[in-house]
Amino acid sequence: MTDQMWDVIIIGAGSVGAPLAWQLAEAGLRPLVVDRFASVGQGSNKAAIGGIRATHSDPAKIRVGLESLRLFSTWQAAYGDDIGWRQGGYAFVAYRESEAQTLKNLLVTQKKYGLDIDWYDAPALLEIIPALNPEGLLGGTFSPGDGSASPMLSALAFERHARARGAEFHYGEAVLAITQAGGRVTGLRTNRGEYAAPLVVNAAGPWAREVAALVGVDLPVAPDSHEAGITEPVAPFLGPMVVDTRPSADSANYYFYQHHTGQIIFCITPSPLIAGLDRRETSIFLPQVTRRMLGVMPCLANLKVRRTWRGTYPMTPDGAPIVGPVKGLAGYLNAAGMCGQGYMLGPGLAVALRQYVTGTLEDDMRAALDLWSPYRSFAGTEALK
Ligand SMILES: Cc1cc2nc3c(=O)[nH]c(=O)nc-3n(C[C@H](O)[C@H](O)[C@H](O)COP(=O)(O)OP(=O)(O)OC[C@H]3O[C@@H](n4cnc5c(N)ncnc54)[C@H](O)[C@@H]3O)c2cc1C
Repeated sequence: MTDQMWDVIIIGAGSVGAPLAWQLAEAGLRPLVVDRFASVGQGSNKAAIGGIRATHSDPAKIRVGLESLRLFSTWQAAYGDDIGWRQGGYAFVAYRESEAQTLKNLLVTQKKYGLDIDWYDAPALLEIIPALNPEGLLGGTFSPGDGSASPMLSALAFERHARARGAEFHYGEAVLAITQAGGRVTGLRTNRGEYAAPLVVNAAGPWAREVAALVGVDLPVAPDSHEAGITEPVAPFLGPMVVDTRPSADSANYYFYQHHTGQIIFCITPSPLIAGLDRRETSIFLPQVTRRMLGVMPCLANLKVRRTWRGTYPMTPDGAPIVGPVKGLAGYLNAAGMCGQGYMLGPGLAVALRQYVTGTLEDDMRAALDLWSPYRSFAGTEALK
């Protein structure tokens, strides 16, 4: 038996679902968000280290990232909540000619899409980040408009403002079925009840493939696990997020920044990737990442690590999100496959989907969503991960 009628049901109160509920409620719709965990942001969202950038190589990520930056950076002024926003910028550093050339080549696309970013030779970059190891440093790109915020504070803020505009959040409810009739989605069934809505959004993050399978769709989203850590707090000395894209024997890129409360937060991409949903920390991560971090910033040797954790990326074959409807089933919408960037893309994507749902999709957002279509070839690889 159907309990209630909603305008839209969002599966997942994470980096995507929470801001989407807020945007749709702002547009006058009545969303229901269903999540199997006990509160907002308990999936991948809470594992994110909080990096927010529009500095990408995919034009869609740049467009959506710029929208996210606008929302994160103005949130406190517009809505009053402190979400820990800090505009420290992003610096991609180069210690080898190959990374320097890749970063310089990317500037053409990045500038074409309106990013405030430039190449800085080693002396100029050292003025921005004096703690960088100068030995072998060729330079790097710096984008001052990028920054960071707290994934938990912002998820709570999106939820609070969504609720204030009429959205409801049901926690501890696992979606078991998406109901259909006559080629249309009619709602969904959870372990607690049945809900009716003409539109159901799959924002289930690392679990999006299972959810898509409920409507017979094979969505190529595969979770892989990543670890992160945090040090004790120290006085401010580091402005930007530092990203080193040099691969090593057992890892790809790694990145770190100084949180607004003084701690250094860091993360690494293992190589090969570790498939699966395992969220237990390992003993491999800390020696692996700290060795590399000390190479680019020796003064970090003085810091004590307080905690590490592990979470999952909802990965896609080409590293880009999968957003849009599926053929032959009206009322079902994918908003999944955010890979390692769902926190920074979530609010911008929410704006794009609000436009999509309300029939007001602007041309540049349409172009962005086209690039993330479930029907693309998935053949490409991203230059800047
Ligand atoms: C260590 C680490 C560091 C990261 N750092 C960053 C960063 O700096 N910046 C950045 O942008 N991104 C970062 N990420 C990536 C980011 O965390 C993810 O891309 C993002 O959280 C994905 O958002 P999502 O909304 O798709 O998924 P989630 O946030 O996981 O939300 C999905 C929700 O769906 C719910 N769900 C799934 N299936 C069901 C079901 N059947 N019934 C009910 N509920 C269901 C889950 O419970 C979950 O809460 C990082 C990730 C990790 C692991």
